Amino acid sequence: MGDMLRAISEDGFIRLTLIDSTDIVTIAQKYHNTTPVATAALGRTLTMAAIMGCNLKSPDDRLTIYIKGDGPLGGIVAAADGACNVKGYVYNPLTDIPKKANGKLDVGGAIGKGYLSISRDLGLKDPYVGQVPLITGEIAEDFTYYYAKSEQTPTAVSLGVLVDTDLSAKKAGGFMIQLMPGCDDETAEKLEKHIATLPSATELLSECETLKDAAFKILDGFSPKLLDEFAYFYRCDCSRDKIDRALISLGRKELEDIINTEGKAELTCQFCPKVYRLNKEELQNLLESAK
Ligand SMILES: [Zn+2]
Repeated sequence: MGDMLRAISEDGFIRLTLIDSTDIVTIAQKYHNTTPVATAALGRTLTMAAIMGCNLKSPDDRLTIYIKGDGPLGGIVAAADGACNVKGYVYNPLTDIPKKANGKLDVGGAIGKGYLSISRDLGLKDPYVGQVPLITGEIAEDFTYYYAKSEQTPTAVSLGVLVDTDLSAKKAGGFMIQLMPGCDDETAEKLEKHIATLPSATELLSECETLKDAAFKILDGFSPKLLDEFAYFYRCDCSRDKIDRALISLGRKELEDIINTEGKAELTCQFCPKVYRLNKEELQNLLESAK
């Protein structure tokens, strides 16, 4: 479970979303057995997915973040919904590359050059898709750029994952600050200067006793008001039904091939450790449905 909080400045022009995602990233690390650099990359992306997911209007709305790069990590997928669930995976969880000269995990180097794309399914006919090239591959900067370019909303994003010696997440979290339309230049300038003085998300969360304390520190000088506080979960919604539908969508030819060569199928969910096994008879039933 992650702790999420939303706050707003007194004049209503500055909105903050803040999350302590330590538990979410710890579960993701366990599920995918990621190395520290892969945990940091996946953890930052999951944290951002949760921040964006909690700002969706309806519980049925969903969004999926795709990061694709030419580095050894390959890519990251993270999905969140308006009902406080997030899940994700990386293409190559065992990626191991040297740390940067400053001792930090080299997430940008693991991801490489590529793009960030976000698909939002808001219950309309087609999902809304926005895409930008990666700026640094360090993820927070890439999302800041995404918001400036794709949504024309001035946004500051901070994401962080501290990996413990036992490979779990020691601290993980992030925040997003957004300027609403109509904000005067003076406030915008004051906020920009203030943001530059803020410590990282993980430092803030480590040094503050509560999430509320951290939020008030982030919006210090802007008379913050708490909007709401709630829990966010790493939860996978995979099911046998979804697996069946995925197999049917392969088409008759492919299904016949599986029945004739393997005679069974074993599928592991990409987001969680669940394994689905189908015997020949079950596969033949699916083949009937595919007709
Ligand atoms: Zn699953």
